[in-house]
Amino acid sequence: MKEYNHLKIEKKWQKEWEKKGIYHAEDKSKKPKFYGLIEFPYPSGEGLHVGHIRSNTAMDIICRKRRAEGFNVLYPIGWDAFGLPTENYAIKTGIHPQKVTKKNTDIFRKQLKAGGFSFDWSREVNTTDPEYYKWTQWIFLKMYEKGLAYKDKININWCPKDKIGLANEEVVDGCCERCGTEVEKREKEQWMLAITKYAERLDKDLDDVNFLEKIKIQQRNWIGRSEGVEIEFRLSGVGHPTAIKVFTTRPDTIFGATFIALAPEIAKKITGKDFGIKIEIDRENKEKIGVDTGLKAKNPANGEMLPVFVVNYVSAEYGTGAIMGVPADDERDKEFAEKYKLPIIENYKKAGFKDYGKKITQFKLRDWVFSRQRYWGEPIPMINCEKCGWVPVPERDLPVELPKVKNYQPTDSGESPLANITKWVNVKCPKCKGHAKRETDTMPNWAGSSWYFLRYIDPKNKKSFADFKKLKYWLGNDPRHSGVDWYNGGMEHTTLHLLYSRFWHKFLFDIGVVPTSEPYAKRTSHGMILAEGGVKMSKSKGNVINPDEIIKIYGADTLRIYEMFIGPFDQSVAWSTDSIIGSRRFLERVWNLQYKVQKNKKYTEFEIEKTIKKVSEDIEEMKFNTAISTLMIFVNEIGKLDFISQDVYETFLKLLSPFAPHMTEGLWKILGHKNSINFESWPVYDLSKIKNKQIKIVVQINGKVRAEIMIRAEISEEEVKKQAISNETVSRHLSGKEIKKVIYVKNRLINIVV
Ligand SMILES: [Zn+2]
Ligand SMILES: [Zn+2]
Repeated sequence: MKEYNHLKIEKKWQKEWEKKGIYHAEDKSKKPKFYGLIEFPYPSGEGLHVGHIRSNTAMDIICRKRRAEGFNVLYPIGWDAFGLPTENYAIKTGIHPQKVTKKNTDIFRKQLKAGGFSFDWSREVNTTDPEYYKWTQWIFLKMYEKGLAYKDKININWCPKDKIGLANEEVVDGCCERCGTEVEKREKEQWMLAITKYAERLDKDLDDVNFLEKIKIQQRNWIGRSEGVEIEFRLSGVGHPTAIKVFTTRPDTIFGATFIALAPEIAKKITGKDFGIKIEIDRENKEKIGVDTGLKAKNPANGEMLPVFVVNYVSAEYGTGAIMGVPADDERDKEFAEKYKLPIIENYKKAGFKDYGKKITQFKLRDWVFSRQRYWGEPIPMINCEKCGWVPVPERDLPVELPKVKNYQPTDSGESPLANITKWVNVKCPKCKGHAKRETDTMPNWAGSSWYFLRYIDPKNKKSFADFKKLKYWLGNDPRHSGVDWYNGGMEHTTLHLLYSRFWHKFLFDIGVVPTSEPYAKRTSHGMILAEGGVKMSKSKGNVINPDEIIKIYGADTLRIYEMFIGPFDQSVAWSTDSIIGSRRFLERVWNLQYKVQKNKKYTEFEIEKTIKKVSEDIEEMKFNTAISTLMIFVNEIGKLDFISQDVYETFLKLLSPFAPHMTEGLWKILGHKNSINFESWPVYDLSKIKNKQIKIVVQINGKVRAEIMIRAEISEEEVKKQAISNETVSRHLSGKEIKKVIYVKNRLINIVV
């Protein structure tokens, strides 16, 4: 007997698969296509996280099953490599971010290859490669051309620690998402992308895609569509505009209004005065504060004059920046009214609005702040000319490459380090050839990930970001119901990456360069892997698990099985090194079964049919943990036998192969096959074999065996009892007696107590 040696087996088959290129996707094929996608990793200096293994294995299992089902499968991988950690590392060490990225991606690639994922490595992309970001810049120019990219002086969220402008999506509870520092407001000229022009479609088209409901809900909440009414409240006195426009989703409550509340910016616009109120909209449960402006506004419904307050809980960015306070119907308004002793009118009459305002639809979604004052990002391909203003870099001059700099430190004035490279900054205006300067802002790290799944389809194309025919093949022909077939990713990217990439894709659809209006047909998500004890893994806590170690000691197959077995896929679960051994022992048991295989022996087909059915269904529902326990139960069952048939063992290996591809490939060859198990078709189950399976049941009366009956496996308990009692022998023994109780031990016996 040869022992299971994972080190030898895994290296051998990884090499062989790579040499033969068996995971390469074909751009032309008669087979149906399947495009499975995972979020490409940010190659951090910490190396691959065990969480990556979890999500990668899940989609790997699905893709392997699809190949076995006869699909031409695209399962690509690449690097989302622009971003702050690499830049901060460069600031600290002086090593160029490109070098750091190269080193990190080399490590990640090696680690991923050791995991045995069936990626098509020939399609690897890297967002920091000028050949890649050339097209990111090209998309920006197209957006500029269509008026979707514009420069605006706005109040941005500013992180004083990172010295960076943040998008609303990057502010959590008023603090920087990256470092936790309290965010300040700063007025700055920024490039903006008009995602709000797509708000209606981004909301509505969620109806057509197969996303998990919780993902749809998060997107909808973020887009924040609300239908309401804009109502004019006329102001008394002079020296200011004559009316305030109020936005409300509840125009029927107008008779209950007792005050008007304004956002600080709106109050300043109307009165010219600063009331010293700071907006606290990002914070929940913050105390409501306000100042009476002295203005009075006339309620158009009943003519009453209402006091006008400037408050800290109404944002200028939502609706009109002015609301009517209806304390009887709104918790926030009630809290405010009680504090400032404003009237609260209970039981006021409800209006059907008609005469007071006009219907409008509002969105919470804001335009996307697209400028970053940092080095390590895609340069924004714009030139500012003294005469012509903003002029786009001509397409033939793309990519605008990042120049070499000595110092990556952002300046305190908030300008990018690129601003110091005068040789790069000073250029001729493409229009008038006069003196001009390059834009020194770079794009946010969400830019490259907004379209990467398109580049996988045609990664080496020099003429366009991807050939339209190839896009049509991989995304489908139906413009409304296609895209990447299955995209799995983290819940943390639901309001950022997922929304941004849907927006970019819709834009590309509108200009006719992609065939579908939605990028992803199906989106699911995974839970995180936490450290032992349920806390987040972090370098500082020293609780990070290095997958390399686990692979070395137990093998990639064991790690894959363990991470799929660890708990329900959509939930976060704590790592436990002690439990890995269980997964390892399971694989050893499978390995040792080879010595029981006999070619001509028959094993009851019922169990394997059930196993095929359950494992097939569980994979589709991402219930990987129960799929594995089904496989384990099966191994326990056949492990009890003296011999097992080769047929059954091979079917079992096919079911296990997406989970443990190396070992099953090894066993496949040992069983005498020349071809890879990767080319075997997925087992199909025969429903009739499961349904028609008969089970023998012993029938007792008061503990004495009186009969045996045969029942069909799937019938109900009630039906079994009925059949037992109506059996000829049993009914003879029961005649004249009163049945007190019927006890059923499933699939084994029935005891009738008389
Ligand atoms: Zn920060
Ligand atoms: Zn010019």
